[in-house]
Amino acid sequence: MIYQSTRNNNEKVNSARAVVKGIADDGGLYMLSDFSALNFDYKSILELSTMETAEKVLGALLDDFSDEEMHLMVESAYRGRFETDELTPVVKVGDNFVLELFRGPTSAFKDVALSMLPRLMTKGREKLGINKDTVILTATSGDTGKAALEGFHDVDGIRIIVFYPNGGVSAVQKAQMVTQEGNNVCVCAVNGNFDDAQTGVKNAFAAFKKSGCDKVELSSANSINIGRLAPQVVYYFTAYASLVKSGEISVGDEINFVVPTGNFGDILAGYFAKSMGLPVNKLICASNANNVLTDFINTGVYDRRREFFKTLSPSMDILVSSNLERLLYLLSDGNSEEVAGYMKELSEKGCYKVSDTILKRLQETFIAAYCDDAVTLQTIKEVYDRDGYLCDTHTAVAFRAALDGKYQNKTVVLSTASPYKFPVAVLTALGVTPDQNEFRVMDQIEQLTGVAIPKNLSGLEQKAVLHKDVIEKDELTDYVMKKVAEEKW
Ligand SMILES: *Cc1c(COP(=O)(O)O)cnc(C)c1O
Repeated sequence: MIYQSTRNNNEKVNSARAVVKGIADDGGLYMLSDFSALNFDYKSILELSTMETAEKVLGALLDDFSDEEMHLMVESAYRGRFETDELTPVVKVGDNFVLELFRGPTSAFKDVALSMLPRLMTKGREKLGINKDTVILTATSGDTGKAALEGFHDVDGIRIIVFYPNGGVSAVQKAQMVTQEGNNVCVCAVNGNFDDAQTGVKNAFAAFKKSGCDKVELSSANSINIGRLAPQVVYYFTAYASLVKSGEISVGDEINFVVPTGNFGDILAGYFAKSMGLPVNKLICASNANNVLTDFINTGVYDRRREFFKTLSPSMDILVSSNLERLLYLLSDGNSEEVAGYMKELSEKGCYKVSDTILKRLQETFIAAYCDDAVTLQTIKEVYDRDGYLCDTHTAVAFRAALDGKYQNKTVVLSTASPYKFPVAVLTALGVTPDQNEFRVMDQIEQLTGVAIPKNLSGLEQKAVLHKDVIEKDELTDYVMKKVAEEKW
């Protein structure tokens, strides 16, 4: 399979190279131009287990890896590391279905992809004959950092540094990161906000390139990497198979998915699945008050020049959704000049308008919806009171869209976090005053609802703090250069 840059069809690489490089030299994202060429038959996975389905779907998308290699990678990424070997179970809640993506080692949906990415990178490096270490730099607003640490710890040939905003993540998220074990991991607080950390990381990449240092390669674990997107395609297939197995639908019936959306990776994976032949009717893009995607899907105008809101669903607080670029590439039939033009307008003017053809094709599949924090909290309470199902703030945003949409087709809501990842908001929604200490709030929720605290979160308060570094935002590049120079961490 040949992957091309969304900004230049002449930049072509194979799938192993696309995973190892992460982003194309021209700033574009690696993409297939035609999914029908994969000849994937969704009916062939309906009887398979989740892990077998993962092997098939990933093997189709990333065909430089042999069946045997993919089998071993899937096993080591997932077997025994999730709460259930089904990995991402589907639960019926009222008239809708919830696809639980948070049953992984850090109770975040990013576990699904970040368990697999390190294996793909290591195997990819081996295939390409790369011997030097890769150092992964990640800035996190909370969830990605821990999921990446968990995925990359103790992986040979790869080291990882995670930067988080000092005081800008929840107590639980901080505890998850600073207690991370492993001899190849490093976690550092930055005095500043998430944007400062992210800008610092971008600057460190640039400074590293300029320095000519060739001791290691730098790479990133964020969702522009095709190796992070591909594992997310799998659960659209398994969710469909699950509805067939439980008799809710017949083979061939089209279903909807509602996706709580930030960087547009998760929902794009749904579009990949549809493009590979899965019977999907609508993909509903659910946003919080940062509703730039809602406006885009309704009008064809993407305009980032607007107020940024900090919401109760922070993983969706995003004004530039990187993976949208890949959708534009597909909807323009692989017209990289057109896509490069839109991206140039976005960076220079903060705004672009897509062609009528793209808008029409976009609206054939995508529907947009959004809600604010007050409605998010109401929805948590409504779903809990009526159906006895406890969901987190991000899932609630999607649930609202499913309830309001009153769709004819069976509709699956993607649930992206455990309610225990955002305990203060969840308890508040249920009408109880939360304790000052976030760990006590988890106990309050458990007592009130009987929903068990995930094991990985319950013991955190007692675990030893292993990472105490704190730096100023303008020290980030120096910190990276110093760490890169060290033989052992
Ligand atoms: C990352 C994340 C999202 C958004 O997913 P995208 O792929 O960036 O659209 C939604 N919910 C939670 C809890 C997340 O961590």
